[in-house]
Amino acid sequence: MNFADYRGIWVYLEVKDGHIAPVSLELLGAGRKLADKRKTELAGVLIGSGIKQLASTAFAYGADVVYVYDAPIFAHYRTEPYMHALLDCCRKHKPEVLLYGATPTGKDLASAIATDLPTGLTADTTVLDIEEDTGLLLASRPAFGGNIMATILCKKYRPQMATVRPKVMKALPPDPTRTGKIIEEQITLREEDVRTKVLEIVRETTKKVRIDEADIIVAGGKGMGSKEGFQLIHQLADALGAAVGASRDVVEAGWIDHHHQVGQTGVTVTPKIYFAIGISGAIQHIVGMQNSELIIAINKDPNAPIFQSCHYGIVGDAFEIVPLLIEQIKRELPNIKASSTSKEEMRHV
Ligand SMILES: Cc1cc2nc3c(=O)[nH]c(=O)nc-3n(C[C@H](O)[C@H](O)[C@H](O)COP(=O)(O)OP(=O)(O)OC[C@H]3O[C@@H](n4cnc5c(N)ncnc54)[C@H](O)[C@@H]3O)c2cc1C
Repeated sequence: MNFADYRGIWVYLEVKDGHIAPVSLELLGAGRKLADKRKTELAGVLIGSGIKQLASTAFAYGADVVYVYDAPIFAHYRTEPYMHALLDCCRKHKPEVLLYGATPTGKDLASAIATDLPTGLTADTTVLDIEEDTGLLLASRPAFGGNIMATILCKKYRPQMATVRPKVMKALPPDPTRTGKIIEEQITLREEDVRTKVLEIVRETTKKVRIDEADIIVAGGKGMGSKEGFQLIHQLADALGAAVGASRDVVEAGWIDHHHQVGQTGVTVTPKIYFAIGISGAIQHIVGMQNSELIIAINKDPNAPIFQSCHYGIVGDAFEIVPLLIEQIKRELPNIKASSTSKEEMRHV
């Protein structure tokens, strides 16, 4: 393997509901920094049907080049056709680094590519850097239960690949005047050669706010005592129009579904306001919420580690404090429009 043949930082541009997924835009932001440091090109790979025009979004967010595979066979994500397209692109154009969002699609595709090329894959990376001279990707992620950060290197193979969790990297402010080069590619693949068929797409219908999209999250921990006690978390969330988050111990106790788990083995969140109530503040929880703009902790133990990671801390019993908060919020909230949930306004509440 001649490393000199491999050039450029690439991002797999996941398409969701006709748009480039936010995590891919975040990766373009991270990729731009790596490409500038390595003095190389930042490229995106777009696969789908009727998606060529999305290349302009990728340029606005930092890409120099976009490889496009636009054909009806790519109308819905399926491992085989997407894998063949991306393999084709990698074999022809040889990227030095290839990044994917750590979404179900990104994880599926990345592992298929890693098996076929073959090369390594660092999963769930939270920090990315590159050695300017060697081009060695430094992909760091929490390891050993979150107690250390491990930096993983892929010294012998190319491309160097990593999946990165949504909301960990920052997208650049879009610049609609930026342009780039579109390279259209094709593969020969017949529908009858693809083993998976999409028969129906069933959309999840939920009125609840999703934690990865919420501006405010009210998260509860084992300190809520029981599933019944945890209802207080739902009540506060309802009063604020917030999403409900939880620690892993709460999920394991069966008080709430895994989709609500915040942390290393759950979802990474960056809301404007994060309430951590009856949560001790284990490192595995902290890594999932530490980038929230404002963190408010309620815990009856003044020495709870959560108080090291919050902006405001209330030492006391959640069962005394939360009902008072709900009462106050219900009284004040009519004066505060649901759309205006800035830190300043929350302080008044
Ligand atoms: C590999 C690995 C991955 C993990 N991934 C995750 C993850 O993704 N997310 C995650 O959350 N955890 C994760 N964990 C688990 C993590 O280590 C902790 O065990 C967990 O976060 C603790 O949950 P907790 O804070 O709800 O419970 P506890 O640690 O039991 O804390 C309960 C807190 O509630 C307080 N309290 C009790 N009663 C009240 C009251 N009436 N009012 C106010 N406060 C009260 C207590 O003082 C205490 O601080 C992981 C662990 C491992 C090993």
